[in-house]
Amino acid sequence: MAMRREPHVLVVGGSDSSGGAGIARDIETISAVGVRTCLAVTALTVQTHDAVIEIHHSPPSMVANQMCAALQANDVATIKIGMLATAKIIVAVAAVLRKFPQVPAVLDPVLASTSGRALLEAGAIAAMKRDLMPLCRLVTPNLIELALLVGSELAMDEDGAVLQGQELLAVGFDALLIKGGHASGPRSTDILLRPDREPVRFATRRLNASMRGTGCMLASAIAAHLAKAKSLEDSVREGKLFVFEKLQECRLNNHNVLRPAKQT
Ligand code: PLP
Repeated sequence: MAMRREPHVLVVGGSDSSGGAGIARDIETISAVGVRTCLAVTALTVQTHDAVIEIHHSPPSMVANQMCAALQANDVATIKIGMLATAKIIVAVAAVLRKFPQVPAVLDPVLASTSGRALLEAGAIAAMKRDLMPLCRLVTPNLIELALLVGSELAMDEDGAVLQGQELLAVGFDALLIKGGHASGPRSTDILLRPDREPVRFATRRLNASMRGTGCMLASAIAAHLAKAKSLEDSVREGKLFVFEKLQECRLNNHNVLRPAKQT
């Protein structure tokens, strides 16, 4: 069958039945940026906006088959990876990335839901670092994920976060975006780290609003802008702006606001 020439983002992740996070957010975001999507579903979950009730994992071979079918049938410009659920799925996804090294991947290292339920099985962090991260163009942890990935306490400040980020980058991949949404202060600052380059900071005003799926949104918006052939820095800048605007909209509409962000 002829390949569709329109650039696509291949979304690899879990379905959240509430629509607040996961592939529903990814598709919504990538479509809003004007890029098409194709899918590889890693898990089905039953969720409300404040609880994860049930999780069912896809067979790893089926995740790989979905990815290969999407990569063969479409012009996949970038791959956005979210919830991976198990070490076996991580290994299966990594094997497909190795077959398509020309397609850059953005990994949102989803470890747990905001409500505290693990979305990656215990012990799978090692597989994520060893097998998957070195194949990714960009990894986008928040401060909590960053600390868990390097096995440290939560960084106390930006300098501490940069040190942890540098430690993670030493695993051997191109770029790390540390998301500062969980920090405090009047600005929300994300820091882009690359080996042998000065950190680049992307800051917005911190909004007194909180919304589910912002991590999914940011990584998806970045992947969509990369698919439009923007540079990494421009894609991150556009992604951050996209999330800021969605948070602002949600604050104005009081829509999907779960809890007020800390007043600083
Ligand atoms: N469910 C799925 C399928 C996800 O991919 C994610 C995050 O990426 C979550 C839940 C967690 O979202 P939140 O932190 O907004 O609860």
